[in-house]
Amino acid sequence: KLSKRLKKVASFVLPGSRFADIGSDHAYLPCYVCLRDPSAYAIVGELNKGPLQRARQTVSWNGLTDRIDVRSGDGLAVFHRGEVNTVVIAGMGGSLIHTILSDGEAHLMGLERIIVQPNTDERNVRQWFSTHGYSIIGESMVEDNGRIYEIIVADKMAGSQQLTGKQLLFGPHLLKQKPDLFYRKWEKEHMKQRHIIDQMTYAKYPDNPKIAMIEKETKWIKEELG
Ligand code: SAM
Repeated sequence: KLSKRLKKVASFVLPGSRFADIGSDHAYLPCYVCLRDPSAYAIVGELNKGPLQRARQTVSWNGLTDRIDVRSGDGLAVFHRGEVNTVVIAGMGGSLIHTILSDGEAHLMGLERIIVQPNTDERNVRQWFSTHGYSIIGESMVEDNGRIYEIIVADKMAGSQQLTGKQLLFGPHLLKQKPDLFYRKWEKEHMKQRHIIDQMTYAKYPDNPKIAMIEKETKWIKEELG
């Protein structure tokens, strides 16, 4: 059974997509999508041997070897330009996702949609989209196993989307919609930050530039939580 988190990610793969799932591990997500959509086709990319073997197993158990191609390789290098119209990168840190997108930029030509689910540092990925001609067209939050995750969907567009500091941190759509999980996530974050500021102040690092940055964010969070 697919996790709530990956089900949510899968919901943004359009019917009939040819998509690559980069860092797929078990290949659960592409199997789920292809079993439900007979017109979908997927490339699974994996850097590591164990996950690669697991992915091959899941694909063959599900009888999907003709529609899911499991390939070994680093990031976006597993597909040729134009082979897919959508890329999914889920369950990794935001900075790793950022690196994968930057390193693989040449493979993104002709790509229509990128769906990411960073475990941390979502801002880093939004920043990449806004400076590389992608527009964030949707965002979503999901709670799974006691953790809250953000999903960001970006489509290729002409020109680039300018995002404010707050939009980069909170997400342009999440900031507008403010779902219940938005409050939950940022209340928790606010408490964490207060704790860090208290500790750093106690340790007498009042001039640490990190404090100023955290304080700015704390102020933004307070403003948005109301
Ligand atoms: N996408 C799945 C999910 O969301 O549940 C699996 C996430 S798992 C935590 C991360 C996977 O990414 C691992 O299987 C790892 O081998 C793979 N990985 C890490 N860096 C990679 C890279 N540069 N290219 C391809 N795969 C990578």
